[in-house]
This record gives sequence, C-alpha cells and structure tokens, in this order.
Amino acid sequence: MTNGQALALQYLEQQRALGGNSVILPDPEPRLTPGESPGKSEPPKSDLPPPGLSFDPPSGDLFAADPVQQTRSLAEIATLVAACTKCKLCESRTNTVPGEGPATARLVVVGEGPGRTEDETGRPFVGRAGELLTKILAAIDFPREQVFICNVVKCRPPENRLPQYDEIAACVPYLFRQIELLKPAVILAMGGTAAQTMLNTKQSLGALRNQVHRFRGIPVIVTYHPAALLRNPNWKRPTWDDVRIARLILDS
Ligand code: SF4
Repeated sequence: MTNGQALALQYLEQQRALGGNSVILPDPEPRLTPGESPGKSEPPKSDLPPPGLSFDPPSGDLFAADPVQQTRSLAEIATLVAACTKCKLCESRTNTVPGEGPATARLVVVGEGPGRTEDETGRPFVGRAGELLTKILAAIDFPREQVFICNVVKCRPPENRLPQYDEIAACVPYLFRQIELLKPAVILAMGGTAAQTMLNTKQSLGALRNQVHRFRGIPVIVTYHPAALLRNPNWKRPTWDDVRIARLILDS
C-alpha cells in the first residue's frame, strides 16, 4: 500500500468514526506550475488557525482561604462538589457530576452541564452525546480514558435548560481549579456555554471557532457540543476540523 492509499484509508476511517456518510477528501498537494522546481516552492504553512482571545483569571494563590483553592487533587474537588449547595441546582440533582479522567490528561474536554443520564450515573458525557464524543476522540487517536472530561456546572439544570449566569459563577471555581491541577496541553471547549465561560466572552460559538484561544496560557479550541451534532449532522465536518487542530497542538 502506498503512502497516499494509507492516508486515504486513515481519513475514511476517521470519517466513519465520526458518523459521516459522505466522503470529503482533503485538498490535494499544490501542483507545480510549468518551469517551477520543487526547490522553489514555498515551505508548507502552519495548519494552525490564528490566535484568538486570552483569558487569565487570578490563580488560587489570591484566594488561599477558599476551600476549593486548598484542594490538592481532583478527588478532593469531587468531594467538595458532592456536598456543594452553592447554587439552586443542588435542589433537583440526583448526583453531582464533577468530571472524570486521569490526573495526567493532556487533553481536557469541557461541556455545558450534566444531562439526564449524567445526573443518574454521576458520570459526564454518557448517553448518545457521550458515545459521539468517544467516537470524536477516537478519530484523533485519543482514547477517552486518556482525556479528562467535565462540564462548566456540576449539577444538572432542570429540563436540560442552559445553566444560568449565577449558577455558572457559583460553580466555575471548581472547573478552574481542576484545570489548575491538571495543567493540560489543550482544552477543547464544546458548545457555546463552555466556550464563553473558558474565554470570559459573550461572542457566539461561530465567531469563536477556528482560532487558538488561551486560558491561563493553555490553548483552547472551540467546537460544537456533541448533542448539537446529533441534532445537526452538518456540523460534523467543522467539528472534525476543530478537533484536528487540537490534535495538531497536542502533537507539536
Ligand atoms: S452546580 Fe456547582 S455550584 Fe451549583 S450546587 Fe452543583 S456543584 Fe454547587
């Protein structure tokens, strides 16, 4: 099998893993114009998109008396979350969903909030959207077990409504502390709520895609939430483009 065939096979496998039923091949290599020698062609440009926003909230040292900032492990954060009553979402939850994954994770996925199945199980991204996330991660050769997966709010909003501003404000110190302890190489913000929270902006998801943002210096890539992909399969291709950027950063 030639290199080209191997590349095409790998690409088709990734498309299949993402659930795509159409074949979209990457742009072919640029052709040389008559008289142009390979030595004169431009070196390949970086595939990374331009830099975007940068959000650098104060670190825990400024709030050392806060129990969240005193935590030294992800398990300690989960223990605090399990007893948390800082916002009204505690009233209707079955289980808290602090997030899961190894403390050594280089990739952190941030979603919006737990849904029904997550609330029942205490685990993030289970159910159909979770299965799709697992496929998306597999498409960039990242087994789910190697990724830390969590949400902006750790308790389920009733009827799966969007988390409200006061709920996000109450809960986000847990997320920021998790990221502080994990120190990942890349954060993948899935959905508008995650993107706006990680970047402290009201810009739309569409405006935030295709840039390399920063959260405390860590690259943040913005893409669609898997639940949105289930509603609109046309967003699978742009999601593939986004996660590929995350993969490029992880490989660099
Ligand atoms: S959503 Fe967050 S802040 Fe609100 S009760 Fe749950 S853990 Fe506490």
